Amino acid sequence: MVSWDKPREECGIFGIAAHPEAARIAYLGLYALQHRGQESAGIVSSDRKKLRIEKGMGYVADIFSESRLERLHGDSALGHVRYSTAGSSTVRNAQPILIDCWRGSIALAHNGQLTNSAYLRHELERDGAIFHSTSDSEVILHLISRSRRRTLQEAFIEALGMVKGAFSLAMLTPEYLLVARDPRGFRPLSIGRLGESYVVASETCAFDLINAEYERDVEPGEVIRIEGNSLDSQSPLPKMKRAFCVFEHIYFSRPDSVVFGRNVYSSRREMGRFLAREHAVEADVVVPIPDSGVSAAIGYSQESGIPLEFGLIRNHYVGRTFIEPKQAIRNFGVKVKLNPVREIVDGKRIVLVDDSIVRGTTSRKIVHIVRAAGAKEIHMRITAPPVIAPCYYGIDIPTRHELIASAKSVEEICKFIDADSLGYLSLESMLAAAGDKESFCSACFTDHYPTDVGIDERQKNLFNQDSDLITPME
Ligand code: SF4
Repeated sequence: MVSWDKPREECGIFGIAAHPEAARIAYLGLYALQHRGQESAGIVSSDRKKLRIEKGMGYVADIFSESRLERLHGDSALGHVRYSTAGSSTVRNAQPILIDCWRGSIALAHNGQLTNSAYLRHELERDGAIFHSTSDSEVILHLISRSRRRTLQEAFIEALGMVKGAFSLAMLTPEYLLVARDPRGFRPLSIGRLGESYVVASETCAFDLINAEYERDVEPGEVIRIEGNSLDSQSPLPKMKRAFCVFEHIYFSRPDSVVFGRNVYSSRREMGRFLAREHAVEADVVVPIPDSGVSAAIGYSQESGIPLEFGLIRNHYVGRTFIEPKQAIRNFGVKVKLNPVREIVDGKRIVLVDDSIVRGTTSRKIVHIVRAAGAKEIHMRITAPPVIAPCYYGIDIPTRHELIASAKSVEEICKFIDADSLGYLSLESMLAAAGDKESFCSACFTDHYPTDVGIDERQKNLFNQDSDLITPME
């Protein structure tokens, strides 16, 4: 498998109600969200009596054959693409998770990561609950099933009051679709209209593919019930300071999406402009590291007046596995994905624009292949500050000791990646480029988390002191 030194998004969600081709539309929605998770995908459909599920490992296009989509009867559907962080990579952890409990059939799709799931799971298991997956999302279903609240919707809300961390959720029952976003709004979730039907998606690029109109974002702390063509909103969760994941704008989301109310391409181009002002350099050409560096490189080029060229070409068809030659080829893992255009880089002073440096190993290999293609100087420019801390809210960032910037200075990183200079965008400029500065989480750059992330550990200690009850936690 080709390793690519980037943080990885965990999941994408797509839901639709009251549409005669619900499962097929969900399939297309997932297709547009494929970049948010490539390990597994699933769709649950409802014909208002029964839920049916099809899911598997791999890409959306490979999992859903014509016959599998045929089996997904009904006019509502919920889909999910997943890349695992919490929970391992098996079909058991693929979502949506479909269960039958005393309240009936329920399917759940989750984007985000809970910060108290280990504690809750421990308590639930001690109470006799049997888990079928290692996914933290299953905890929510157990809480719903055990709730004494009268209706399923009330039980859903009660469960949301007990979990902590990041969740953009959708739950399908035979009769309706419930969607919710955690009170800080870490992960995106939007609502659109396809004719009379409501659709929900992690990113608005899914609406564009199916010709749906983006209406608005699900608000942080909001719970929405979509039944037929009607939508009912409530805000039962406590108000909290917003903490939208700024990495969605830097790297994860597609540039054609509107995320947290702002177009991602515009944010990235703006980051590039700020970067050119903060880290100007004499150079001949600006080269993006594709694909995520492209929009920022355009901004850098526009601001600096240095021409932009696509001096690195990405192979989009690299599979998950391939047979490596027995004799080692230098920088093979990177070369199989990226190839420099010698005619553009040879003899030139290059500004290489990328969105992040995680371990530093991939950046170093890229610098080496560009230098080997004849570049005279290489000036690496990064559209975010150094990543110094892990994420607990649904993004797979390596542990602290693996993050090169947690232990090395900018000068040391520059030396490690073998660049002639290295410039990171300041925190202030990154947030300003992404929109409303006050609304973002930037914990992986600052080490200041918007929630208590040690809650699992502390609550486990409490549990060891013989706590019997699961109670909503602050
Ligand atoms: S820690 Fe970083 S990746 Fe995680 S939610 Fe905050 S900004 Fe996003």
